[in-house]
Amino acid sequence: MAHQSLKIDHILYLLTLDGERRIIQDGAVLVENGRISRVGKAKELADARADRVIDGRAMVVTPGFFNGHMHISYAHPVRGIFPDEQASPLVHVFNLQSAMTEDEEYHATLLGLIELVKSGTVCFLDPGSTKFPDACLQAYEDAGIRVILGECVTDQESPWALPRFPPAEAVARTEGFISKWNGKLEGRLRAWAMPFSYETCSTGLLQALKRVADEHRTGLTLHHNTGEKARQDSVVRYGHTPTAYLQSIGVIGPGVLLAHCLGIDEGEIDCIARTGTTVAMCPVTAAKSGRGVPAHGRMPELLARGVRIALGCDSPNNSNHLDIVRAMNMAAIQYKDARQDLRQVPAEAALEMATIHGAQAMGLGDELGSIETGKKADLVCFDTLRPEWQALWNPVNNLVYNADGRSVHTVVIDGRVVVDAYRQTFADEPRLFAKVQEIGERLQARTGITFPRSKWPMS
Ligand SMILES: [Zn+2]
Repeated sequence: MAHQSLKIDHILYLLTLDGERRIIQDGAVLVENGRISRVGKAKELADARADRVIDGRAMVVTPGFFNGHMHISYAHPVRGIFPDEQASPLVHVFNLQSAMTEDEEYHATLLGLIELVKSGTVCFLDPGSTKFPDACLQAYEDAGIRVILGECVTDQESPWALPRFPPAEAVARTEGFISKWNGKLEGRLRAWAMPFSYETCSTGLLQALKRVADEHRTGLTLHHNTGEKARQDSVVRYGHTPTAYLQSIGVIGPGVLLAHCLGIDEGEIDCIARTGTTVAMCPVTAAKSGRGVPAHGRMPELLARGVRIALGCDSPNNSNHLDIVRAMNMAAIQYKDARQDLRQVPAEAALEMATIHGAQAMGLGDELGSIETGKKADLVCFDTLRPEWQALWNPVNNLVYNADGRSVHTVVIDGRVVVDAYRQTFADEPRLFAKVQEIGERLQARTGITFPRSKWPMS
């Protein structure tokens, strides 16, 4: 499809996230052939003509948002079923996930994509939970979104229903997946190696998957929660802390994205920083599941060492929502409270993690993550003609502390408008919502995983 040129003109505040972090008032952006061709003051771009012009006078425009850890496939149809005090829902989570059919996964994914793009996410990483990428490809294509996919593999025992293969098969499947998918959708789809975690994979498998990722010049992500108990187990088993173990076997460095990263110690932070390893953190999941951010959250230390961190929303049954603006808000407020120190994780740092730093953490920072000439045109326009945006003095503070993704008005990915004045055009929402509710009923009936629908009498 040919690209139309696009101009967003007279932008109230244009947050470029460029090297100087310039914020341009009365700004303008010109998009040609899917890339940003000019950025500046509206008067500097007065001569620029485009096929379509969007009036930015009431808009705050930011780069598109990155979600570095987002299990998209299973949870929408059963979102919210777990009561608050359900101690460890993970066993149910994986049983539900492994019970999804192809058609169910397609529809759950489609709903996830709507929620993502309508709140400004232009790129997400699904850590291996999509079982039917062939079926979901159409949904990604229709949504116009960028996605990093992989096949989740393990070769060790696990308390959960995870896909387990003999090591050679796990490697072959990963190799096959990357060869088949990497670069599809005009480069919007990337395929990575996705071992579930160091605890569920043998050393040999982790090393082989890293080699596959390196050979294909792509990435590798895995779950990486450590903490006191995991550290002790790891020291007994491998003679190292979990992160030092990964370093000792060579599964670390640029191109390795560690998810969650709660409970890491000073030595592990140093190892991550020195090796150029990147991190995805899910602040809402950490808070909602009581992971103990005051004791285990190390985001400020990682930021201080220059580690590139992407934010994640984990899953619709962890953080429950897929709104990266709310994840920014949580990142910016939870460390102030945890440390009783208002200097922790400023609003600007939260916005960097959702944009330029997130893109860098996901290996896409050269082409994406900021509004600069030559970069791919991924843009989010927030509608400030809403009560939560008033009064407007500091657009970064208003975005991170006042707003949420529901004021996203228009989203551009690769120069194409995918959300236009609050509307997406790739799915019939009322029909899809009914379908997903039905899938949720079927899934609960089929698996027997169900909970009382309310603590209060429901008639
Ligand atoms: Zn995960």
